[in-house]
Amino acid sequence: MKLYNTLTRKKDEFTTLDGSNTVRMYSCGPTVYNYAHIGNLRTYVFMDLLRRVLKYEGYDIKGVMNITDVGHLTDDGDDGEDKMATAAKREKKDPWQIAEYYTGIFMRDFDKLNIGKPEIICKATEHIEDMIEYVQGLEEKGFGYETDDGIYYDISKFKDYGALSGNTLEDLKAGARIEVNDGKRNPYDFAIWKKAPKEHIMQWPSPWGQGYPGWHIECSTMSRKYLGDTFDIHTGGVDHIPIHHENEIAQSEGLTGVNPAKFWIHGDFMLVDGGKMSKSLGNTYTIEQLEQKGYSAMAFRYFCLNAHYRKKLNFTFETMDGAKTSYDRLLNLLKKHKESPAKTEESVLEKYKTEFKNDVGDDLNIPSALGVLWTMLKEPYSVDIYNLALDFDRVFGLSLDALPEDEKVEIPSEIIAKAEEMQAARKEKNWAVADAIRAELNGLGYVVKNTKDGYVIELK
Ligand code: AMP
Ligand code: ZN
Repeated sequence: MKLYNTLTRKKDEFTTLDGSNTVRMYSCGPTVYNYAHIGNLRTYVFMDLLRRVLKYEGYDIKGVMNITDVGHLTDDGDDGEDKMATAAKREKKDPWQIAEYYTGIFMRDFDKLNIGKPEIICKATEHIEDMIEYVQGLEEKGFGYETDDGIYYDISKFKDYGALSGNTLEDLKAGARIEVNDGKRNPYDFAIWKKAPKEHIMQWPSPWGQGYPGWHIECSTMSRKYLGDTFDIHTGGVDHIPIHHENEIAQSEGLTGVNPAKFWIHGDFMLVDGGKMSKSLGNTYTIEQLEQKGYSAMAFRYFCLNAHYRKKLNFTFETMDGAKTSYDRLLNLLKKHKESPAKTEESVLEKYKTEFKNDVGDDLNIPSALGVLWTMLKEPYSVDIYNLALDFDRVFGLSLDALPEDEKVEIPSEIIAKAEEMQAARKEKNWAVADAIRAELNGLGYVVKNTKDGYVIELK
């Protein structure tokens, strides 16, 4: 199979570094200071597709994903406040509670979107000792130096800076801001460890006094710890290329002398209404918000699969409506195939199998592979087609064996009437009556769940 490698700027044939059947892969994980928006989740759907295609090709995977629960500043460089501390103030909680809450929601979104969890999920705050050792190593090798407010990486010592983005040292010099932090040797040097002022909430003892790690050192430390000095694949969003991943490479090469990953693979961004997603524009939708508007997580996954991971994907509610309709049509067609005992000739099935395999093996051309599925579903109804579609679904992860939306659960009208009665009792704060009806409904096999907009009835 071929994969586009940001490092070589071309599609390269994929093989593992050690020739084994296990792919060692590191994925930059979330900063758990807020709900993941649909853009963030697009990047993890891409990670998941890569994992699924590798598995389809017969590989095992040792995947590692970090949870950034300290050290990611509001500016990707060294400025601003720690995102966790900002969230803690906003929500009047401590950063550990913030991390726990948003990590939980993030993992629930993974489940809803059929995103396979990496084999190792590691929190930055549980690896502080390892990070300190890494920073010490960089100091010993002459790449790290101390200033009044932290330990910095001396980029001028690393001649190959810019391998991924093409941002050379010369470009950095030209673009560097006049720095207030005059302890730095070069304005573009970045912090690998920050000294913590007293009032800073998250801090640990270190050889340089109380402090906390820089965001970039977290990924370098944890990827090395679990995958070794070099591994097969490193993934992230395209925004990570010019700073975060360049700095990871600088750190790894500084310490070990080698670029940590053979393949650097990046997913492009999601836009909303043709522009950037941002809190101030109110367009950073979450999966839960889409669900409340009537779009299932699977319909959103289907939406993502229609664009190649290296292309920008523009989210609008019109295109999302289209994805929802297509996904429903897909399930309806599949059901017809499932119910037909007719046979399909082996040669016909083989043709589709080959086309599908060629597409997914060509730098994850999932949109084209979906095209193969749609063409195949136009064949005369046959359970053989259904079974092959389920085989393709090992890659798509679209729950193609699910019942079509319109057939999901039919709630009898008398049950709906009882739930309405219960709601009315709740409104009047008549809790005893409401609880009695809830118990009665439970006994009949139904649960009523309260939502923002009212309630839903589900089978128990
Ligand atoms: P963060 O939690 O901010 O560290 O981001 C988590 C992941 O989401 C990173 O891999 C980012 O590259 C990615 N990301 C952030 N914004 C977008 C977006 N609009 N579209 C796609 N991916 C994004
Ligand atoms: Zn990272």
